[in-house]
Amino acid sequence: MIKTEKILHLKSCRGRKVRVVREHYLRERVPCYSSLCQADCGNDGKLLPGDLTHYVVPDAGVVLDYLEILEFRELQGVVFTQTACQALQSKGRRYYNRLRSLLRDPRHDCVLFANEFQEYSYCPREKGESQERWQTRCVYSAAVWYYNHLAGMMNIVMITEDRAAVDQYSSLNSGVFVVSLQDYLQDFWPELAAAHELYASISQALQEKEGEGTEREYSEHLPAEVLEAGIKSGRYSQGTLNVSKHRAQNEAFVQTEDLSDKNTDLSSGVLVFGGKNRNRAVHGDRVVVELLPRSEWRGQVTSLTEGQGEDRSGEDSWSKPMPTGRVVGILQRNWRDYVVTFPTRDGTQSQTRNSQRILAVPWDRRIPKIRISTQQADTLQDHRVVVRIDSWESTSLYPNGHSVRVLGRAGELETEVQTILIENCIHVPPFSDAQLREMPVNSPEKPWTVDPTEAAVRRDLRESHLVFSIDPLGCEDVDDTLSVRRVAGGKLLELGVHIADVTHFVAEGSLTDLEARMRATTYYLADRRYDMLPAVLSADLCSLLGGVDRYAMSVMWELDAQTLAVHKVWFGRTLIRSSYQLHYELAQALLSGEQAVVPELVGLGSKEKDAKLAQLVQALETLTHVARQLRAQRDQGGALELEGVEVRAQLDEDRNITALVPRQPLEVHETVAECMIYANHWVARKIQETFPAQALLRRHPPPRQELFGQLVDSAKAQGFSIDTRSNKALADSLDQAVDSQDPLVNRILRMMATQAMSQAVYFSTGAQPQDQYYHYGLALDRYTHFTSPIRRYADMVVHRLLTAAIEVEKGTGPGKVPGSNKEVEEMAHHINSKNRAAQRAQSLSTALFQCLYFKERDAQSDPRCTADAVIYSIRDNGVLVFIPQYGVKGPVYMRNKDGQVVAPGPDGRCEWQSGSVRRFSDRITTTSSSGSATFRLFGHITVRISVLSTSCHADSLNLEVVSNEPHRGAQPEQPRPQGRNQLVQEVVRLAEEAQEKAAQQLPKLSREEREFRQSKTPNLYSLLEEVRELALMDTEQVTQVCATTA
Ligand SMILES: [Zn+2]
Repeated sequence: MIKTEKILHLKSCRGRKVRVVREHYLRERVPCYSSLCQADCGNDGKLLPGDLTHYVVPDAGVVLDYLEILEFRELQGVVFTQTACQALQSKGRRYYNRLRSLLRDPRHDCVLFANEFQEYSYCPREKGESQERWQTRCVYSAAVWYYNHLAGMMNIVMITEDRAAVDQYSSLNSGVFVVSLQDYLQDFWPELAAAHELYASISQALQEKEGEGTEREYSEHLPAEVLEAGIKSGRYSQGTLNVSKHRAQNEAFVQTEDLSDKNTDLSSGVLVFGGKNRNRAVHGDRVVVELLPRSEWRGQVTSLTEGQGEDRSGEDSWSKPMPTGRVVGILQRNWRDYVVTFPTRDGTQSQTRNSQRILAVPWDRRIPKIRISTQQADTLQDHRVVVRIDSWESTSLYPNGHSVRVLGRAGELETEVQTILIENCIHVPPFSDAQLREMPVNSPEKPWTVDPTEAAVRRDLRESHLVFSIDPLGCEDVDDTLSVRRVAGGKLLELGVHIADVTHFVAEGSLTDLEARMRATTYYLADRRYDMLPAVLSADLCSLLGGVDRYAMSVMWELDAQTLAVHKVWFGRTLIRSSYQLHYELAQALLSGEQAVVPELVGLGSKEKDAKLAQLVQALETLTHVARQLRAQRDQGGALELEGVEVRAQLDEDRNITALVPRQPLEVHETVAECMIYANHWVARKIQETFPAQALLRRHPPPRQELFGQLVDSAKAQGFSIDTRSNKALADSLDQAVDSQDPLVNRILRMMATQAMSQAVYFSTGAQPQDQYYHYGLALDRYTHFTSPIRRYADMVVHRLLTAAIEVEKGTGPGKVPGSNKEVEEMAHHINSKNRAAQRAQSLSTALFQCLYFKERDAQSDPRCTADAVIYSIRDNGVLVFIPQYGVKGPVYMRNKDGQVVAPGPDGRCEWQSGSVRRFSDRITTTSSSGSATFRLFGHITVRISVLSTSCHADSLNLEVVSNEPHRGAQPEQPRPQGRNQLVQEVVRLAEEAQEKAAQQLPKLSREEREFRQSKTPNLYSLLEEVRELALMDTEQVTQVCATTA
């Protein structure tokens, strides 16, 4: 080992530059991570395969500017040098994190070579040598080392954007090829069109950047030290910038994090008004704000805003002035991939004089326009394109970015669905071959069978227990099954919940596990779903289908037959064979004693059939009895029945549909749900007791009382009183608030209560005091998710925790220690964020289908565009309504932009006339020459539904009042449960027809369109952005990673 000195220029986490002299140890053996290695390099972990045509070594400049291209999974055998890695560190944590994730990701064929610790590859910097030249020389030296180390068995290609280096090193005859990135892509990856496009896009953006102006548009951000000192002294506050959806140009809020005693009046956040004060901060960034003097404080707009995004002035009403500030610095950028639309030709002309720079309009109104350099401005008009922001200098009015790929023409179904996914950072490519190779085989030729060694360690319930499942009709992924029987001569009831044993098939850390973790959930959109696990598991081997042997994780209770007091709980792995795969309607029919055909019993002799049927019905009855009592116990504790509480969603595969249509109230729904809640609760207890500081639980915080204001006031207007002091009081008073004339009143009150609720979230038990574990909605002291491991990653984590807990109990383990509190909390954070994304995507896709549905119709003549609506909120210039028939909510204006008001004639039909509006707490009145009219809370009116189209953003529904009377065509009957389904099907059919038609017309697709549409570009970016959340890093760790070999 040789000792030298090395001078490092480190950047501290606060952005300070530190010069450190390090003793630098050079060693002979540094891992080369190649499977061709003949020396004793001490390689362990990810290795580069030996059967590649070449290894590629990018120099620091390429890594700095083109990391996105190196992220393509197609590129194999990539060697990142320590030199390049350290150079990237100086660019910022965000970039460095991406490289780190790339290196850790087993799906990526790349390694880190600690070239500066390797005796023969290290070259000290020469006097007068520029940093860049030296770095390039270091990387070249590393490339040569590889060539020699592998004895010429592998070709080594070094890529650099430094022309002089290409010329100089190419002539050296060292065995290493030195080429530019562009040549490399052309020679080695001619088919990888997406990478070529990205190269063109990034290199153009880099060129443009050099020619940037110098005139300042914004004030400079303050240095990190100043920001930190300011936050400490209370002069500044930090928080996340949240741009208003409806007034994106002007209004943004910073919810401050440091609620110290100094700034108690900031609890409702700081208003940042206008672009100059926002100072280049983008929605989602973590920023530092300084308060303006009180004289400059202002209020926020409280009226409904028409034509979203268009900021209006004039007649708006304002709230009372609130703390108002300006952004003085940015702690962390939260940039992601954005979907934008290129403006139409008219829009570009004014901008084209400055080469090919155009201002692309993001789909998300909260994101500023992004300046893109492109040669495809014309071809890509009216297309949706994915872009990334590169920088936003103080001299630039808009941020600069580059395009990444083209999604397709705006307005087409596929383009719009992809847009929704990308805007929510949802990345769901088809499962890769490598992932699928991990899967067990189950084919007609090679059927999957129970492994005898596995069977020996499991409790075998196949002969002893009657196991069955109850799911929605046509359900493929059966996560849960039930059993119930009398034991101990009838004194005890044995209740069993048996859940698919997914973690038996998915080893922790396997590719399938990583993919499932990244997705965190199955995504349900209006017309499709994206599974968390490959179908061989979710629809087959993990699905607890009838008549086949399956592995399960079981919870079995022995309950007192009378009191249901728990005598004993058993947790463990089992082997089951479900006897009946029932659906809800069938189970309910059996319970009600109706004639029903049980498919499993068809073909049996009548005697045997009757006996088996009687046995099944008895099991169902016992189960119902147990569930009723369990439910009663929870009701005592104050369990809430609300719209949208998770239990409902858990039951139904088509969540998006039931969310909009009143569900069929079958008791058997409740029965199954109650058993699942019971299992989740007991598993939560078990893992929390065994791992008090690192169990993954789910809590539902009580709602903030102030959010109940609208609910209480609205109910009061109808003569009901809602008590929100506890969940029990709320549940009871909601049950009382029933208007016998109008069942919608109760439904809307429950909807409001749901809106006031906090979201239930996962957490690590070590991260919260125990009194915060409470699940408010279910009235349970501990709760978790255990019963749906096929479609929720949280349940997989919980299964692993439970397995470890069982091993601890047996004294045999745990074989694998579950994650630390910090790791579990980070996991919880990741899953929570993915769940929110899934919910947003689901509601956006529902809205998309609603718009596509109404877009096809003439709002003036089509009767389907006129509907009954209920007023559920009063605003300054209009009302918010709910349309039960379509499950649509939205604003209805009583005063329009021209200042005209809604004036109903004698028959109730409304027209616009000049006049005035007046708002009261429970009503709004309009006055015009034809008299005055009142619109009351919970009143029914008739509205016309049309679509507001904009090419750059999502379409939205426009609701206009047609009459202040209830809709005459409105049937008193219940909305058809299938209504929503039909809507989706009809839209899909129309989209397919349109596609057929387009195909017959032989479309003239541009080269870009063809290539981009067909390319299955793996986009790691979004994955990394998500993983970044998990891998919060401090500088010390960074140095460690780089120095692992030191
Ligand atoms: Zn080696």
